[in-house]
Amino acid sequence: MTSDNGQSKPVSIADDKVDLDLLASIYDRLDTAVWIFDFDLKRILWANGKTLEVMDASSLAELQLRDLGADMSPSVEKRLRQYRHDFWNRDVSFSEIWTLYPKGTPKVLQMVMSGLRLKDGRMALLCEAREHHEQQPETLRSAEALLHTTVMISLFTMDGLPLYRNTAARAACVSLATRFEEQFADPKDAQKLLEQVERERTSKLVARIKTGAGTRWHELTIRACHDAVTGQPAYLVSEIDVTELHETKERAQYLASHDTLTGLSNRTYLKERLTQILKTASEANQTATLYLVDLDDFKLVNDSMGHAAGDALLQLVSAKLKDLACPGDVVARLGGDEFLICHLEKEGSQSDDWFGQSLLNAFTPPQLIDGKAKHVGLSIGFAHYPEDGIKIDQLMRHADLALYQAKSNPSTKCVRYHERMKRLRNEHLAIRKDLEQAIREYEFVLHYQPVAFTGNDRVVAAEALIRWQHPEQGLIRPDQFVPIAEETGLINEIGAWVCLQVAHMQARLQKLKYPVGLSLNVSPRQLSDPLFVPLMQSLPSETGCDPSKISLEITETVLLGDIANAHETLAILKETGYQIVIDDFGTGYSNLAYLHNYPIDGIKIDRMFVEDITSGGEIVKLILSLAKALGADVVAEGVETIDQRSWLSKNGCNLYQGYLYSKPVPEDRFLSMLRTQMELAAT
Ligand code: C2E
Ligand code: CA
Ligand code: CA
Repeated sequence: MTSDNGQSKPVSIADDKVDLDLLASIYDRLDTAVWIFDFDLKRILWANGKTLEVMDASSLAELQLRDLGADMSPSVEKRLRQYRHDFWNRDVSFSEIWTLYPKGTPKVLQMVMSGLRLKDGRMALLCEAREHHEQQPETLRSAEALLHTTVMISLFTMDGLPLYRNTAARAACVSLATRFEEQFADPKDAQKLLEQVERERTSKLVARIKTGAGTRWHELTIRACHDAVTGQPAYLVSEIDVTELHETKERAQYLASHDTLTGLSNRTYLKERLTQILKTASEANQTATLYLVDLDDFKLVNDSMGHAAGDALLQLVSAKLKDLACPGDVVARLGGDEFLICHLEKEGSQSDDWFGQSLLNAFTPPQLIDGKAKHVGLSIGFAHYPEDGIKIDQLMRHADLALYQAKSNPSTKCVRYHERMKRLRNEHLAIRKDLEQAIREYEFVLHYQPVAFTGNDRVVAAEALIRWQHPEQGLIRPDQFVPIAEETGLINEIGAWVCLQVAHMQARLQKLKYPVGLSLNVSPRQLSDPLFVPLMQSLPSETGCDPSKISLEITETVLLGDIANAHETLAILKETGYQIVIDDFGTGYSNLAYLHNYPIDGIKIDRMFVEDITSGGEIVKLILSLAKALGADVVAEGVETIDQRSWLSKNGCNLYQGYLYSKPVPEDRFLSMLRTQMELAAT
């Protein structure tokens, strides 16, 4: 039992009546053993006569010589340290049953221990002990157990005042006077426990507890009982420290719910978190937006720069997403290069896609990946809560449809869900399915669009453009299936077919003695297809074509270093005799520096620049002078008017392609055009 002693008053005995020897003899006559123990020396400093009897000592001098520290167990040592600490802090005494082993014989003592300040200022232990004969072995053992156990056991009044703490509880508490509810880092935990014990007489909880060693996780079991001394209702609390276990569990839970690479949430608890955020939105009458974000050409980065660079890119993107998101938002990595953000809209939010737009803006400047500046393209699809869906599944599905749309259209990268997307997606899925059959059944045809001189309209070349002769849907334009074929990798097979057809056609033109070149479009993906170069190398001998009369149209992205070995591949193709032409020039990232490093034979100016050429055409003039410096031919694409053609002719652009001269036409039409031209020339 712990109790306050209060300040002890000095004994007032008249010096003339009682001398110190008398006092000493009184001590010796007491039936209580009294001794003073030196914490530091672990020896008895002084003891009365009863102590000598209890300790089986022949004299005080002999007792003082005993080294009590010699066979002291660590737990007793720890308890003594705890006592000294308690005495320093407060004037307290403890009543406990101890078993001592003087000369090996167990002696059960009912002890009262208190602090005694020595003359040199140190704290010593004053012990008063009575032999304890009447206790049952059971009681003795339980008292011992209570002393030694690491379980913290304490008793509190109904008002939370401490009545008792065992050694472990004393060692842990911040102060002996700490009330029940004061121990809790979160007062709500104490309240929860007390409410439950009120109802059910017992309760259990793992809570954060303030201890002398900082805040720790304790598992507390609390029971309603009665104080054995006063008979008043009380709470018996037993606690164990579960910090390690709890932290391991928390870490395991964190690992299970987070992506290790980026530290973002993973799919596991996504539903829970989304439910929470939508609940918040609904309760506060707020709206929320669910964004799905996908990186463009992530596979290309992985393949060409290595997985470490791919990882660095994913980390960079997640860091940016975290930066932009507000504290309550959900930011998760769904897997691969796909991310999810659920953003709670503040009242009076700007536009419905402002968050997605700021995301895109954050990626407008090139990003440093693995020490290299890279353009990182994003596609974003989003759906609003509640307008585009109320349930999580529905919002996810709708955002996914919008993302699909964003991915298939290079000009709109942040797209909101719309009902018509379902139909579009179904069409796409159907196309994807049908494409494989189209390859097996040879459902493709090539149309040819002539390239003519701006000065005299003579046809000097033609571009092969693919069409899909779908058995039910009729002729399908490449815009509707080439991106899908690129996505699925089917473009490699389709592209190989195009190359073979063009080679045969060129051989035919040669035989007919038509001095006309052909060009074909090569997707970036084809260049990294290991079968592509061997195919191109075999075509001249296989078909009899002249590779110098065939131009391979590649896009600027190929030259920007995203494709592994692009430089080598192009060099081999060039060596084999093919011409290399840059298609859609000017729509890429306009980094002209790379042009020097590549074996470029020609440039095709994108239709976009030709459209308003007649009102200035400064960019086209620039491209023309650049091409001249490089010694590259220039073809202007998408020429639809006579004015455009005249402008080109006047400004030194000799070649053009466009509806003005002819739309792409089937092979036989193209051949008859050439025949007519030859006949006219002959006359
Ligand atoms: P592209 O290589 O830029 O081809 C030019 C596109 O512009 C063609 O569309 C052509 O019909 C169109 N065009 C030509 N002159 C005019 C004009 O005066 N006005 C307008 N408004 N348009 C004009 P098409 O045939 O639909 O091809 C679209 C794209 O599909 C091509 O763009 C090319 O990127 C791709 N493509 C076509 N055939 C193939 C192929 O065999 N392989 C690969 N990988 N891609 C192909
Ligand atoms: Ca082209
Ligand atoms: Ca083009």
